[in-house]
Amino acid sequence: MSELRVRFAPSPTGYLHVGGARTALFNWLLARNQGATFILRIEDTDVERSTKESVDAILEGMKWLGLEWDEGPFYQSDYFPLYKEYVQKLVAAGKAYKCYCTAEELDAKRNLAMVEGRKPKYDGTCRDRAVQPGDQPHVIRFRAPHGGVTSFDDLIKGTITFPNEELDDLIIQRTDGTPTYNFCVVIDDATMHITTVIRGDDHVNNTPRQIQLYEALGFPVPKFAHVPMILGADKARLSKRHGATSVISYRDMGYLPEALLNYLVRLGWSHGDDEIFGREEMIQKFDISNVGRSASVFNTEKLNWLNAHYIKNSDPDRLATLLLPHLSLREVTTANGPNLTAVVKTLQERAQTLEEMAERALFYYNAPIVYDDAALAKFDKELLLAVFTAVIEKLSSSSAVDAAGIDALFKEVCTENSWKMGQVGQPVRIALSGGTQAPGIGEIVVTLGVEETIRRIQAAREFVAGK
Ligand code: GLU
Repeated sequence: MSELRVRFAPSPTGYLHVGGARTALFNWLLARNQGATFILRIEDTDVERSTKESVDAILEGMKWLGLEWDEGPFYQSDYFPLYKEYVQKLVAAGKAYKCYCTAEELDAKRNLAMVEGRKPKYDGTCRDRAVQPGDQPHVIRFRAPHGGVTSFDDLIKGTITFPNEELDDLIIQRTDGTPTYNFCVVIDDATMHITTVIRGDDHVNNTPRQIQLYEALGFPVPKFAHVPMILGADKARLSKRHGATSVISYRDMGYLPEALLNYLVRLGWSHGDDEIFGREEMIQKFDISNVGRSASVFNTEKLNWLNAHYIKNSDPDRLATLLLPHLSLREVTTANGPNLTAVVKTLQERAQTLEEMAERALFYYNAPIVYDDAALAKFDKELLLAVFTAVIEKLSSSSAVDAAGIDALFKEVCTENSWKMGQVGQPVRIALSGGTQAPGIGEIVVTLGVEETIRRIQAAREFVAGK
């Protein structure tokens, strides 16, 4: 088989972690870059810990990121008969054997080894047992080669060598007849003709055992690329303790999928000094040999910077659609207010996340019921009343339709009354939005509409007059 085939093989024991998503991304990029096949395999042999909710969460995360797979999802739990068949093949060939050692016996030996300062290792009691003690409970162990080394050239880490003495006879089938993790992975990768295994480097220690199994079964050994971990700022492995780690929680916090992808691809991989990679660009430039050997630290500020970049450069119609769930969460209905795309256009230059944008969009749909007192207090009551009156008059008699036209009207109001722009713009901004954090005045007026603008300034005028 010369055709390149890669896979992502998550265990459905939780949501899709950003580390898992990056592994999936590297597989997907290699596949797209090489015109190869990308397979999704759900490793659910641990029936106790695997859940349907986790499977759904993983698929949802992959789809949201746009990491579409070509084959699968395949579920390991559908392949138990296949694994059994291969266990039997190894037993028949004398490459695996029944082990009758009880848990108590193994525990006692392990404890003794610890007391004597030896590394605990299966001692091979059943490996060469001449007489089988009948049909008693047993596991099946792989007859691992003695002596020599098992070595592989990792595409990221270089050559990694394990002395075979360190690897004991692996259990490949438990007493209840179920196959064990390392065995299933090998059978799957071999029968799915996977040519390159890209996975987290927490699996490095499994690799020599898996290679021995490939060899015993007569399967070609794939290439391996072990991706270094993602760490938190304290250099400990990234976990919930450091904040959000699930891909879907990043969607819910208002990140765009392309921003998270761009962030993740740069976490461990580089292409010169480039920082911005759209999907096509990362596909084109991706090369697994440019993945670094050391762990990377997750940096939310950089992710925010990228997200702001993508928000700024996104189509406002698309952003409006993506913003809707964030507005619904705030019980905002947009039907009776300004056009959402127009609102987005006034906010997309400055928002880091869609959550932030939703927060800033609120005033367009809900007229202020309170005003920022401290901000209002900076102006005399008389000035505020005069400004509001002058602006209302100006707007009522004008036919300006765009932001530039409206801005010009405000300048006229200033000139006619010898006011500074801050003395007019700021009070009006407070009247329209309740606060001072808002887009340019012309943009707000055009987006809200002149009628609603006048209504809000009148309300603010009454509020000030009644003080
Ligand atoms: N199921 C394993 C995990 O989620 C991955 C195994 C592999 O990629 O070989 O960590």
